[in-house]
Amino acid sequence: MSIAAPHPQGHKAFPAAPRPLSPEALLNEEERGRILAKSALFAPPEATLPDGRKDLVGLSREELAAEMVAMGEKAFRAKQLWHWIYHQGERDFSRMSNIARPFQQKLAERFVIGRPDVGTEQTSTDGTRKWLFKFRDTQQVETVYIPDDDRGSVCISTQVGCTLSCSFCHTGTQKLVRNLGAAEIVGQFMAARDSYGEWPTPTGGEDEDGRRLSNIVVMGMGEPLYNYEAVRKALIIIMDHEGIALSRRRITLSTSGVVPVMDICGQELGVNLAVSLHAVRNDLRDILVPLNRKYPIDELLAACRRYPGVSNARRITFEYVMLRGVNDSAAEARELARLLKGIPAKVNLIPFNPWPGSDYQTSRPEQIREFSEILLAAGISCPVRRPRGRDILAACGQLKTESERARRA
Ligand code: SF4
Repeated sequence: MSIAAPHPQGHKAFPAAPRPLSPEALLNEEERGRILAKSALFAPPEATLPDGRKDLVGLSREELAAEMVAMGEKAFRAKQLWHWIYHQGERDFSRMSNIARPFQQKLAERFVIGRPDVGTEQTSTDGTRKWLFKFRDTQQVETVYIPDDDRGSVCISTQVGCTLSCSFCHTGTQKLVRNLGAAEIVGQFMAARDSYGEWPTPTGGEDEDGRRLSNIVVMGMGEPLYNYEAVRKALIIIMDHEGIALSRRRITLSTSGVVPVMDICGQELGVNLAVSLHAVRNDLRDILVPLNRKYPIDELLAACRRYPGVSNARRITFEYVMLRGVNDSAAEARELARLLKGIPAKVNLIPFNPWPGSDYQTSRPEQIREFSEILLAAGISCPVRRPRGRDILAACGQLKTESERARRA
């Protein structure tokens, strides 16, 4: 997507302060509080090693400064460390050349600059790369790098498993184990950059030219808006101009429609939004995306209409998995065009990627063509997503950790 989102205002390293919420969004506040409280029940373990050293990755700037002050140092040390951690990608305190040796040693006694362990790394014949990352408590997630002509997207996970059980999704068959922490979310992107040696952060100017890992899609395992606090913290770190410096127009967050949190996500982060729609009738969407029973299509589309900053230059992406004989008729295409009227929208048509044990089949090519022609005639851009990394089970909806596959086999 080529999206011209406004740049953060105020302190140049931080995103803009939230604007006031609309009346509809305010109505959601109580439910949002309930969702955030529930999310805390699946909190990750402390980011501390058995020897007591703490991981600096995932701390906000303020938290990092507080750690420095607690050591009797000046807060500006946090700025130096931030540069080394997120701009240089350095993990060894002894190589931080503008920090005096005694302080380097003090840092090494108290802290680490962590990464998830790489369990496995597989590269597809089409260049897609998939990692199984392991965290300190042995939990695992998958992360995928998808190279394209004009970009390279890293698809990151936000939960181990998922609560939502979308019926076409392999990940949805792995029950939610826990949320990932901010360190584990940022760590996936940093480890992916380690794998390609993309440090220090390329500085190609405004549009980040020259980056191999140029985009992030928060579309891997889990529902990001059910782990919003950690996702928010991680994305603020990733967008910080003095570190990884990936702009919000290069980040797309995909949700299955957690309406009460969509508003606040738009206000606070302003990243691109993708919505897993997959059906145009509530009775069918209730089956494909069971969250629909809570937030039906009309409420979801109303939240899309009020998502901040949406325009023709900055469209919402609607994901639509093409399932043969289930949701792929011409009538459904016409209804989709009607529903999206007035929303600056793009529809990603995703031929279903089969996985062991699923009952669905991919739509026939001629059916996908007819469906897309109807949308195009209604003025809606609707690229058909080319399946990537099928040989390594890295395609959309196929992520599931190997250990879980083995456990169920
Ligand atoms: S599509 Fe997303 S939200 Fe639905 S089960 Fe799969 S990972 Fe969870």
